[in-house]
Amino acid sequence: MTGLKASPFAPEYTTRVINDEPMSRHTSWHVGGPADFFFDPRDAGDLAAFVRQLPAEIALLWIGLGSNLLVRDGGIRGAVITTHGALSSLERSSATRIRVAAGVPCARIARECVKWGLGPAEFFAGIPGTLGGALAMNAGAWGGETWRHVLEVEVLDRQGVRHTRTPADYEIGYRRVLGPADEWFLAAQLEFERKPGENENSIAQLLDKRRETQPIGEWSCGSVFTNPPGDYAARLIETAGLKGFRLGDASVSQKHANFIINHGAARAADIEALIEHVRRTVAEVHRVELTTEVRIVGEPAWT
Ligand SMILES: Cc1cc2nc3c(=O)[nH]c(=O)nc-3n(C[C@H](O)[C@H](O)[C@H](O)COP(=O)(O)OP(=O)(O)OC[C@H]3O[C@@H](n4cnc5c(N)ncnc54)[C@H](O)[C@@H]3O)c2cc1C
Repeated sequence: MTGLKASPFAPEYTTRVINDEPMSRHTSWHVGGPADFFFDPRDAGDLAAFVRQLPAEIALLWIGLGSNLLVRDGGIRGAVITTHGALSSLERSSATRIRVAAGVPCARIARECVKWGLGPAEFFAGIPGTLGGALAMNAGAWGGETWRHVLEVEVLDRQGVRHTRTPADYEIGYRRVLGPADEWFLAAQLEFERKPGENENSIAQLLDKRRETQPIGEWSCGSVFTNPPGDYAARLIETAGLKGFRLGDASVSQKHANFIINHGAARAADIEALIEHVRRTVAEVHRVELTTEVRIVGEPAWT
């Protein structure tokens, strides 16, 4: 709890903002200490109004489904906004275009596109996050990548003002998106091709294949590290002898070496220490520096 917590918000928000919300409830690793303030907006207008009245000294973090986030055990000093639930519209805007709000789960984009005969969009089915998170990460799977389909994005700045931006406003790479500072995604116009032959079975087959090779259903954040050029992080980790290596209640997955599993009682500190151990061991054994794909945020615990 910080000194700022007495009453930093406009009166209409004081009862709607949750204090000390455990972030373990909002991350797929199920770890993470409390956020000072947690806000679940009703819609985009409500979200913008909240941001407009948020004092400038309060740090702001937007989250989707927390499927790529390691929140440290000391939690987050500042305000967290969740988009899942609030920004939920998805509509077809032309024969090949759709407008998707940032809180829409990627799996829904895949399903709707298949229904409308648009593709290739099945790759979205493999990403267990929201479109907002996929835009922030340039998420991809099975050869598909989010930003290849982006025509324009609607963003909100720290003053609560909306802007429309195009891909030319961003530096986009493999799991990397660099754009104007202090802006967050509200929605995107995505373009696909007409693919009337696609059906739900193609998604089901891809997901089956994934279940064979990845520990789906266990508490993880997907791939912890990005693949270095010309190689695979999982191969480097496995051949460094780290499959199954355990720290506390976190371990390197036996099924896919680039996944770290929380077996139930891991703390963020265990996972972060394991990430560091993997990084150091791979550097020693292979002379390759791995880079984390997961975003690590928040404060360490005092103890
Ligand atoms: C089992 C499993 C499998 C996975 N497989 C894949 C895969 O195949 N390919 C892949 O790319 N990823 C994969 N991931 C990782 C993850 O699903 C993606 O990175 C996803 O895009 C994250 O979306 P999210 O909504 O959960 O974002 P979060 O984890 O909530 O946030 C991730 C980052 O995005 C930022 N962010 C979120 N919403 C917004 C917004 N509206 N505006 C601005 N910034 C925002 C956050 O601040 C944070 O920095 C996997 C994860 C799991 C658990």
